[in-house]
Amino acid sequence: MAPESQIDILAIAAHRDDVEQTCGGTLLAMQAKGCRTGILDLTRGESGTRGTAAEREAEANEAARILKVTRREALDLPDGNVQNTLENRLKITAVLRRLRPRVVILPYWQGRHPDHYTSATLSYEACFISGLSKLDVPGSNAPPHRPYKILYASLYADVRPTFTVDITPFIEQRFQSLMAYRSQYASQPQGGGLFVPEEDIRERTFASARHYGLLTGVRYAEPFVQKEVGLVDDLMLLPVASI
Ligand SMILES: [Zn+2]
Repeated sequence: MAPESQIDILAIAAHRDDVEQTCGGTLLAMQAKGCRTGILDLTRGESGTRGTAAEREAEANEAARILKVTRREALDLPDGNVQNTLENRLKITAVLRRLRPRVVILPYWQGRHPDHYTSATLSYEACFISGLSKLDVPGSNAPPHRPYKILYASLYADVRPTFTVDITPFIEQRFQSLMAYRSQYASQPQGGGLFVPEEDIRERTFASARHYGLLTGVRYAEPFVQKEVGLVDDLMLLPVASI
């Protein structure tokens, strides 16, 4: 018999602090419903202008505490050079087979940063091969596992979301999880031209969540895309007013 899942929902992202920006409120909302949530960061942030990888690890752990995730792990893919290789797919597959999430949240598959869109394709393919019964994964003896649902966090994508998740009760916590990355966001002189001050990030975070909330009739929300067509059981229970 296959081992039980270690977590219910796994968010995979290229960089520490990506999940905090795109789907941290959703992880909090699902945790509040009793789900075990997790984060897999594919890189460790060694190429950032500010702070070291060790500082970013401490910050990521603090953010994980604020987001109430059951697990947070990081792989060792090179920051700024995430590549869709068999070796990298197998590294992600080993985590998928061990944690056995039902739902996986990925970055959207198009965008400005190559690490982000490459992580989407790389992780999707890892989800696929993770289910292949004859595929041996180095260093892993866990049985095959394919996630049931793959969702794409589309906050930064120029695309109409399939649905949003209401994060109204969790918006402040989500913002605080981002602020845990003090080496990146606290107002400081180094890299001042590249990084926006904390009050701007607050305004941006809340404005964007408000925008997606307005699209679906709630105050604050996070957007997602799913590739599958949705299935409805009861037309009387469909949310979001049409007019
Ligand atoms: Zn990123």
